[in-house]
Amino acid sequence: MIPSPVSIALDLAIIGGGVAGLWLANRAKSAGYSVAVFESGGLGGGQTLASQGMIHGGMKYTLAGALSGASEAIAEMPRHWRACLCGEGDVDLQHTRILSDHFFMWSGDDLGSKITGFFASKITRGRIEPVNPNRRPPLLRHPLFTGSLYRLEDLVIDTPSLVNNLANNIEGHCFCIDWSQAQLLKDATGQLSLHIQTPQQSLVIQAQRFIFTAGKGNAELLAQIGEQQPAMQLRPLQQVMVKNHHPFDFYGHCLGIGTTPRLTISSHRLPDGEHVWYLGGSLAEEGVNMSADELIQKAETELRDLIPWINLHNAEWAVLPIERAEPLQPGFARPDNAFMEKVPGTNVLVGWPTKLTLAPNLANQALELLQGDGVAPQPANNFNYLLDYLPYAEPDKTPWEKAFPPKISAEEAMALRFKELDENDE
Ligand SMILES: Cc1cc2nc3c(=O)[nH]c(=O)nc-3n(C[C@H](O)[C@H](O)[C@H](O)COP(=O)(O)OP(=O)(O)OC[C@H]3O[C@@H](n4cnc5c(N)ncnc54)[C@H](O)[C@@H]3O)c2cc1C
Repeated sequence: MIPSPVSIALDLAIIGGGVAGLWLANRAKSAGYSVAVFESGGLGGGQTLASQGMIHGGMKYTLAGALSGASEAIAEMPRHWRACLCGEGDVDLQHTRILSDHFFMWSGDDLGSKITGFFASKITRGRIEPVNPNRRPPLLRHPLFTGSLYRLEDLVIDTPSLVNNLANNIEGHCFCIDWSQAQLLKDATGQLSLHIQTPQQSLVIQAQRFIFTAGKGNAELLAQIGEQQPAMQLRPLQQVMVKNHHPFDFYGHCLGIGTTPRLTISSHRLPDGEHVWYLGGSLAEEGVNMSADELIQKAETELRDLIPWINLHNAEWAVLPIERAEPLQPGFARPDNAFMEKVPGTNVLVGWPTKLTLAPNLANQALELLQGDGVAPQPANNFNYLLDYLPYAEPDKTPWEKAFPPKISAEEAMALRFKELDENDE
């Protein structure tokens, strides 16, 4: 006999476990709300783990045309993240690794005077300083480097440790959802409920608010409940990954004449310690319609042009097509704030942080909307059924782990080590 459906009452059902959903769940749980995150893939597996991890104050990295000032919200973000990383903020990020406490901006000779003028106006703000030749990062400490170099006091964080940290803070609250066995239903009064069929039990999840933080998946979730607003825009990119034996970690933008940096480099490690450079900026924007081979060729040419002293012999290359999901803007502009809005006539909120940096801003906006609507924490009902019947969602792998899997498995590596030990014993 099939048991009758169990009704579960929550304050917040968050759909999508990237940085937006996880950060919000952290804040909401601390505020006393009963909360569950439902993730259809691996946690962070959309844009979050594919991001370059730069937590910046919103300065436009462009030498072309007028520079608009950063919005107040984003200018405040690096300080907010720093407090969290020290365990003194609204979310505890003490287990998140900082890859770098600064990043660089550099330009080739041809733009030298332009970049100097550009930064001269910014230096007064105190967060940017020219780099003395004997303080250059190892990558640019070469006689052939004659460009201009500036250092920004902004952070680069390790996104896998961020996702782990955020998920561990709310252990037991992130669940896998398989939409072939689940459905969102909207009743005549616009109230949503989530129906999940597990092999053993039917679950009906009611929540005071459903919050969509599924990145690119938000549009599909809205379509599932017959809504089209708020509309979304997608910014396609094709990032390049290069695994090399060079020892230089580097984080920074090479400025060109366009409105996007010519090249952005961040550095990441594979589980076996190998280095990967992750390349974005104009290269990734312009490379969207290129084949993988064409884009890799272009990336190699760019690197040989900008840092010809780096030996790329034997480097391994891969590309990552990915889209940035944002709320629709007039003229396809890049939003400078997080976005969180109610879907009128429903108990649904929809949000896009638009930048990793702005995840705290998104959570603030969501909590303000809840308070404004008088949504107060209530005791959860039957939460244990989620624990009993739904698998936990786990953090996803990074794009570079997927692109460059270990040549031998961890078990084989361990077996080899034991073999060597045995041989030494003999
Ligand atoms: C290449 C790249 C580089 C970037 N670099 C930076 C940077 O350096 N600094 C910066 O500030 N920002 C950066 N960003 C932007 C930043 O990564 C994103 O704004 C941010 O990660 C978005 O977070 P999110 O949680 O909204 O979305 P996502 O990280 O995409 O998470 C959405 C989650 O929802 C899940 N999901 C999707 N559909 C469903 C569904 N139907 N049901 C359940 N779950 C679902 C997905 O699996 C995913 O886990 C970069 C973005 C890209 C693509």
